[in-house]
Amino acid sequence: MKSAGETIREMLEFDRIHLWHPYTSPVDPLPVYPAVRAKGVRIVLADGRELIDGMSSWWCVIHGYSHPELIKAAREQIERMAHVMFGGLTHPPAVELGKLLLEIAPDGLTKIFYCDSGSVAVEVAMKMALQYWHALGKAGKKKFLTVRKGYHGDTFGAMSVCDPVNGMHRLFAGFLTQNLFAPEPSCTFDQEWQEDDISDLMKLLSEHVDEIAAVIMEPVVQGAGGMRFYHPLFVRRAYELSKQFGVLFIADEIATGFGRTGKMFACEYAGITPDIMCVGKALTGGMMSLAAVLTTDDVAEVIGGGDPGIFAHGPTFMGNPLACAVGAASIRLLMSYPWRERVKVIESVLRDGLEPCRGMPVVEDVRVLGAIGVVETKRPVDVALLQKLFVERGVWIRPFDRLIYVMPPYVIGKEDLVILCEALCEVVDMWGRTY
Ligand code: PMP
Repeated sequence: MKSAGETIREMLEFDRIHLWHPYTSPVDPLPVYPAVRAKGVRIVLADGRELIDGMSSWWCVIHGYSHPELIKAAREQIERMAHVMFGGLTHPPAVELGKLLLEIAPDGLTKIFYCDSGSVAVEVAMKMALQYWHALGKAGKKKFLTVRKGYHGDTFGAMSVCDPVNGMHRLFAGFLTQNLFAPEPSCTFDQEWQEDDISDLMKLLSEHVDEIAAVIMEPVVQGAGGMRFYHPLFVRRAYELSKQFGVLFIADEIATGFGRTGKMFACEYAGITPDIMCVGKALTGGMMSLAAVLTTDDVAEVIGGGDPGIFAHGPTFMGNPLACAVGAASIRLLMSYPWRERVKVIESVLRDGLEPCRGMPVVEDVRVLGAIGVVETKRPVDVALLQKLFVERGVWIRPFDRLIYVMPPYVIGKEDLVILCEALCEVVDMWGRTY
């Protein structure tokens, strides 16, 4: 019989040799920690250590891990019908989730395309825009206009609108579609709006309007491209200009959706209804992968009325009943508790709790919006070292580049949140002074 320690070592060894992890070397990967269970805001490691989760597993696990309501929905659906093709068939979970999405989405979004993941949703959204113009006989409109420092996913279409530097466009040069990039918004969420912040985007739009199919952006929060919070009026102006110049506007709400910023969708800060909106991540409360692209009657009617009259996409697991059932349960759960108040409380605890970082010499900026707290450092962090220091302090925080950030589940208690912030401040301080 192997000891528990041996089993864990063997597991980690297999993982190190055979399994690739996100954005790591396939031959010399950073260390990983073996997780065996997770409940509420605790991730349990194989050796029994419990970590307070500061990441919601990358924006997803808004209600905490292993929520009984979501498990119940998954159990019931898996026994009934885990999967069935969406071609020629429909089912109650898809319809129920659809109704709930339309209830919470900005007014005017009426049509839903389910797909597998955030990146695929972005591909679908881009295809919708291209087919829209194709159907209108303006097939020359094939480019997308976006802002720098954005992130929209890792598939090729999505990558082509990610920040050209962060998104490592040079690696795929010659293969990646060339799109148009305005400078990133410089007016931050809290600053007074400066009208000239939008002028470069306006210039690009007016110069290239005949080539542009759509403007695409992450409303208000640029996530993996830099964790930047920018002014809602930038979103509003970009939307208004899109309408003025007659191009579509795509909002990527994959990270921001379902309350994370303090609004159900970040577009609400700008008071707009995009032509196309992508959601994913927290759609199933982090239980499994599912995404959706919502659009308007206009977009659907144009695509449907044009040549070839169909929309050219149909993933195998489109509308997967299991994921839809959990998605519906997650939205119902969200609507059943005062998530706005909880996000507000998290915001205020994060503001106080991360404030001590502001004076540290290694820290460039501290910012908080909704249930997102960011400490930006002056130099890139040593991810493996920081992660180790965090785990030793019983918290799960995964930094990248110059960003140490937390986005805890909405169900986190004040005490846990304070521990999370204290650990973050202590580690940043120690790392800044020692390394
Ligand atoms: N868009 C945004 C704004 C995202 O944050 C992400 C994921 N980080 C994606 C798209 C891609 O989603 P996925 O990883 O599910 O493909």
